[in-house]
Amino acid sequence: MRILISGGGLAGLATAYWLRQHGHEPVVIERAPSLRRDGYGLDFFGTGYDVAERMGIIDALAETQIFMKNGSGIAFVDKDGKPEAELKIDAVRKVLGGKYMGLMHYNLEEVLYDAVKDDVEIRFGTSITAVAQSLESVTVTLENGDTEIFDLLVGADGIHSNVRGLVFGPEEKFAFYLGYYLACYFVPNTYQLPATWSNYTEPGRQIGAYSTDREDQLATLFLWQTKDEGYVPHDKRADKIRAAFEGMGWLAPQILDDMPDDGKDILVDTVTQIRMDTWRNGRVVLVGDAAGCMTLISGQGASMALGGAYVLAEELGQTEDWQQALATYEHRVKPQIELRQQKAHDFAKQFVPGSELGVKAEMVVMKLVTYEAFSGLLKKQFVGDSFLQTAAIHRLPASEGSVLGYRVVGKLQETDYQTLAMGLDEALRSTSTVNLLLQLDELEGIKLGALLADWRFGRKYHEKVHRLAIVGSKRWEQWVTKLSSPFYAVEARFFNADDVERAWHWVSETEQ
Ligand SMILES: Cc1cc2nc3c(=O)[nH]c(=O)nc-3n(C[C@H](O)[C@H](O)[C@H](O)COP(=O)(O)OP(=O)(O)OC[C@H]3O[C@@H](n4cnc5c(N)ncnc54)[C@H](O)[C@@H]3O)c2cc1C
Repeated sequence: MRILISGGGLAGLATAYWLRQHGHEPVVIERAPSLRRDGYGLDFFGTGYDVAERMGIIDALAETQIFMKNGSGIAFVDKDGKPEAELKIDAVRKVLGGKYMGLMHYNLEEVLYDAVKDDVEIRFGTSITAVAQSLESVTVTLENGDTEIFDLLVGADGIHSNVRGLVFGPEEKFAFYLGYYLACYFVPNTYQLPATWSNYTEPGRQIGAYSTDREDQLATLFLWQTKDEGYVPHDKRADKIRAAFEGMGWLAPQILDDMPDDGKDILVDTVTQIRMDTWRNGRVVLVGDAAGCMTLISGQGASMALGGAYVLAEELGQTEDWQQALATYEHRVKPQIELRQQKAHDFAKQFVPGSELGVKAEMVVMKLVTYEAFSGLLKKQFVGDSFLQTAAIHRLPASEGSVLGYRVVGKLQETDYQTLAMGLDEALRSTSTVNLLLQLDELEGIKLGALLADWRFGRKYHEKVHRLAIVGSKRWEQWVTKLSSPFYAVEARFFNADDVERAWHWVSETEQ
């Protein structure tokens, strides 16, 4: 298929790479005139790291790593710059099984670009102005007035997605403000800061500064609590930041003095999540921040942009039924994004505490997580595993209409129940009951945290699932089948693993 991708950022370039691998013909359009060199540092781990390994780009990324100097870490300093709590990057790496890198956004983008530039048409300096869909294709109008026809359109154009605006509706419909603004810019590296990323917090505002791969520059990150005042134009950015950080201690006066003269060199944005009911509309689909921005508080936007791209292309590579592929992509990825959005939302208030007491409490928590015994909490908070490895439920390509089949491998988690429920809900839009086949290849049980989801699932669907076929090879799976009716289905039957065809036949029988 010929697929247009709007946005040559992380999600767009990764989608292009994987679509190419699956035999499609992607074309990328990027609004910026060239690869963007502005940027900020990001933590890279979990799903994104997994995808980067599968792309074979880990070595290239490793060369650009930041936080590599001896003793690197994240420090929370007092107004004199003395560290009150310090989290060593080596400890973070250890918790994440060594699969962690500190990267500049522009370096990650550049490595992705290098991976696709020879195989994919990438057009810089253009954007879509109109989208029209028919049953057969999607037609886009570009800024120069040209129209072009594609099989699918992927909106990978970031938090303020143009495609989302054109096809799904205005940003306000989907924006969920978390109470902060952020700003980033580079300053000359004249501060004699140690190797650590130093952060200084006062109630409701925080400044961080860290060294990057640019020897002569430090990157900064400002965060402050305020009401949502929408987009800040370039010429208003400096004043906005100065007003929010006036009278702040530590190195704030010098960092403010070193602010670039041109507002175009200053990134200012709201810390806003994008929450949508669906990421699909006909032949148009969203990926990355455009679909489900989680914000920097989740620490995983880049990672999940790569994860979403990988799954989208994988699904489009597995079937010619593009509608099914887009649905399965959404069912697999959306629950994962929503879980991380929920965690980020819950953590948002503590992110930059609003009171003196809150700031002190944050120091205590930071000190605690520096102890190895507690560092696992970090991984839990940020859901540090790759969902490509942990998701237990996998839709089988033979699923069609009211007959759905899933392979189950691993331990069922809450997100697996959501994936399953989205599949069922989709089918139940055109039928009153469904038949379900669960192929238990290596079911390892249910995670404790998912027991409620399991109960809710049974309550919601036990009358909607007419036939449930459980395909397995273990004795206890036969018992599970016996207990499944009436709790999960009207009728449940067990089939031996070598009898899977008969199981499909049983669930495919039409009279319900
Ligand atoms: C300060 C900060 C810190 C962060 N820290 C982390 C972190 O530690 N870990 C992490 O994983 N994530 C982090 N993130 C989030 C992460 O950067 C994003 O989630 C990620 O970049 C999303 O990728 P994307 O491709 O969807 O969007 P982007 O990377 O924003 O790419 C979107 C692309 O679309 C282009 N575009 C926009 N409009 C148009 C248009 N009309 N037409 C064509 N192209 C267009 C843009 O120019 C851009 O190239 C952080 C974000 C910020 C701001």
